[in-house]
Amino acid sequence: MSRKMLVIGEARDGVLRNVTFEAIAAAKKVSTDGEIVGVICGADDLEAAGKEMIYYGADRVITVKNDQLKTYTSDGYGQALLAVIDEESPEGIIMGHTAIGKDITPKLASKMESGLISDAIQIEETGENLVFTRPIYSGKAFEKKIITDGLLFATIRPNNIKALERDDSRSGEVTAKSVEMKDLRTVIQDVIRKSTDGVDLSEASIIVAGGRGVKSAEGFEPLEELADVLGAALGASRGACDAGYCDYSLQIGQTGKVVTPDLYIAVGISGAIQHLAGMSNSKIIVAINKDPEANIFNVADYGIVGDLFDVVPKLTEQIKQIKV
Ligand code: FAD
Repeated sequence: MSRKMLVIGEARDGVLRNVTFEAIAAAKKVSTDGEIVGVICGADDLEAAGKEMIYYGADRVITVKNDQLKTYTSDGYGQALLAVIDEESPEGIIMGHTAIGKDITPKLASKMESGLISDAIQIEETGENLVFTRPIYSGKAFEKKIITDGLLFATIRPNNIKALERDDSRSGEVTAKSVEMKDLRTVIQDVIRKSTDGVDLSEASIIVAGGRGVKSAEGFEPLEELADVLGAALGASRGACDAGYCDYSLQIGQTGKVVTPDLYIAVGISGAIQHLAGMSNSKIIVAINKDPEANIFNVADYGIVGDLFDVVPKLTEQIKQIKV
């Protein structure tokens, strides 16, 4: 299939998020022979990020640099991206289903009077059709979507479509486009980050998540140590967040982040349906809980019945020894 595809890249502090590379791989799936054009917006030098998109499979990249694009606003990014879309007239657009992706893509789709397949986890070619699979009903079922005509516009869930191998022998043009921002209604004065450390939760391949069973903010410490040795991100249930043991930015579930890591370690989490909605599609689930009847064991691949304050430090020690 041959379509001109636009991949919207996402950088954080100048570094491209991995989902950008996954989006390029997704674009290649829907357009094996067509041109893949990347686009990145920001206020810093975007040349290096543009080249990185080429190493991961883009044919050329357009950068839009403007001081007013320093921090994401749907207003500013909307204007920049619509200007690129107008000029390029792509037949398909793909972006990560991230906080920014969830915000900007419906806006772009409505401006272009197009449909949008959001949160796709798989793309397959079946005969003449491209079939997009996306979870529905909080991950309890999957629906298949086919685009028959018009613009192919989709967001992909991080960690589901494998990025292509980085190949720094690839070359392609990185061109800067200037876009004049008009009548911006949202201006971000300052950004105060609650958590800057550690691995990004939505893109992490390993997550150690704690629930109300950790009993206090200090109770998270053994989990942090385990996360450290595994190179994992720390997550939490809403129970733990509501109890004030950790920040809400760590919440996983129906009203928190949806994650699909390779390994999810649920510690002191009962497995309420709203929590499962955010993590049950993880590839391998390990549950540590002192209650053998806890619902989390119904979705777990491996279960450890025991006191987390006993089990987690032992696990950390064992992993340290394997790693030496
Ligand atoms: P609990 O249910 O209290 O479970 C604690 C677990 O820890 C128990 O299983 C217990 O056996 C175990 N435990 C205790 N001590 C130890 C120990 N020493 N060692 C080992 N195990 C121990 N929840 C989410 O997580 N994410 C959401 O996004 C979310 N959205 C919601 C949206 C709505 C509209 C509603 C109504 C609820 C939502 N919830 C969400 C809340 C959800 O229903 C549960 O209340 C919550 O997930 C429970 O958190 P928990 O498992 O940490 O706590």
